[in-house]
Amino acid sequence: MKNVYIETYGCQMNQADSGIVAKVLTDNGYTLVNNQDDADVILINTCAVRDNAEKRIHNRVRDLQSLKKKHPLLKIGIIGCMAERLKDSLINEDKADVVCGPDAYRDIAALIGQTTGINVALSDEETYEDIVPLEIDSDGISAFISVMRGCENFCSYCVVPYTRGKERSRSASSIIKQAESLFNKGYRDITLLGQNVNSYRFEDNGKVIDFADLLAMTAAINPLLRVRFATSHPKDLSEKLIDTIASHKNICKYIHLPIQSGSDNMLKKMNRKYTVSQYLEKTDLIRRKIPDCALSTDVIAGFCGETEEDHRQTLEIFKRIGYDSAYMFKYSERPGTLASKKYADDVKEEEKVRRLQQIIDLQRELSLSSNKKDIGKTFEVLVEGESKRDKTKLYGRTSQNKVVIFDKQDNKKGDYILVEIENCTSATLFGKKKQ
Ligand code: SF4
Repeated sequence: MKNVYIETYGCQMNQADSGIVAKVLTDNGYTLVNNQDDADVILINTCAVRDNAEKRIHNRVRDLQSLKKKHPLLKIGIIGCMAERLKDSLINEDKADVVCGPDAYRDIAALIGQTTGINVALSDEETYEDIVPLEIDSDGISAFISVMRGCENFCSYCVVPYTRGKERSRSASSIIKQAESLFNKGYRDITLLGQNVNSYRFEDNGKVIDFADLLAMTAAINPLLRVRFATSHPKDLSEKLIDTIASHKNICKYIHLPIQSGSDNMLKKMNRKYTVSQYLEKTDLIRRKIPDCALSTDVIAGFCGETEEDHRQTLEIFKRIGYDSAYMFKYSERPGTLASKKYADDVKEEEKVRRLQQIIDLQRELSLSSNKKDIGKTFEVLVEGESKRDKTKLYGRTSQNKVVIFDKQDNKKGDYILVEIENCTSATLFGKKKQ
């Protein structure tokens, strides 16, 4: 019997993938442990989207080498996107024992058994749909289900099409089965995941199931199951999907719609395949059909050739839409991407930092103003656990994905309760249970 410790970095897809790796390994006689000191094998599930994320993982793997002095038989494996991107250099330079790409997880036990095991072959078909992932690092309430893998959009800054390969969808029946099983175990909030869920498409006995159909099928499992999804590409977000969200109470009123830039020049260079006005048509439609829908976004500051005017347009679009929240980054060139080959990374670092800070400051104001509008309103909140700062309080989320803190009273994890909002910061709502 061998112990394995899995550490996950990066996106929710990686979290779902770590569950697949955990299942494959436990089926092969391994035991999952929560502490690296108890492990015979440490696997680091990695993200290659930003240079900083990779640097952090190189440092982490180098630190882990010191554990090998105490435990010479310890194996260290790097799995996921960085494994795919850097391949055998991770064995030669970082002294990893195992390197396993995102489509080779069925092979992970065999790779650990080798002196140095490497498999970074990408597949056009692998979806792991027959593997029921283990829920690791889970709160028992929220879970992620990967519904598709890969991406073929080739946004010019993005490494994902190279590290995760071609787009492919899992069968709807395997997804519904997994969601039903999670619901029966007590999970109440499920996020359907893919790099671009809007292009989900599966043919079942001649019937085509698209993402809107899949979402409706998942919502039909039980009205007590909340359904979320990530991520949507604006070019593919359909009116049918918006109508499906509007017509199901338990599909959360929250859409993450990455804009990346408010400048058409930048969007073209980013190969995003939409213009600002096309993006606005989608957000206007969402606002019209689902007035209480929260919107969040991703944005990149300081992409190749970005001028002050391009940046100003990004700030303008943020104000125009009034996002509820945003994931904001400065541009980080990734080797092998279209942008790295075609465009100079010519915005100075201090300028990237300044522009990013302006966007962050603006978003903080927008989030605060969005939260202030909720004061006095009552929301149905799914309780997710005890507040970390105050054990007399619970926290949960609204359908709009906002965190709410309120008095514990006799409620517990998994309950739905009505909370009236009394106060807020830019990040959190505070309220009291409505009697
Ligand atoms: S849609 Fe674009 S940004 Fe998203 S994973 Fe695909 S290539 Fe990357």
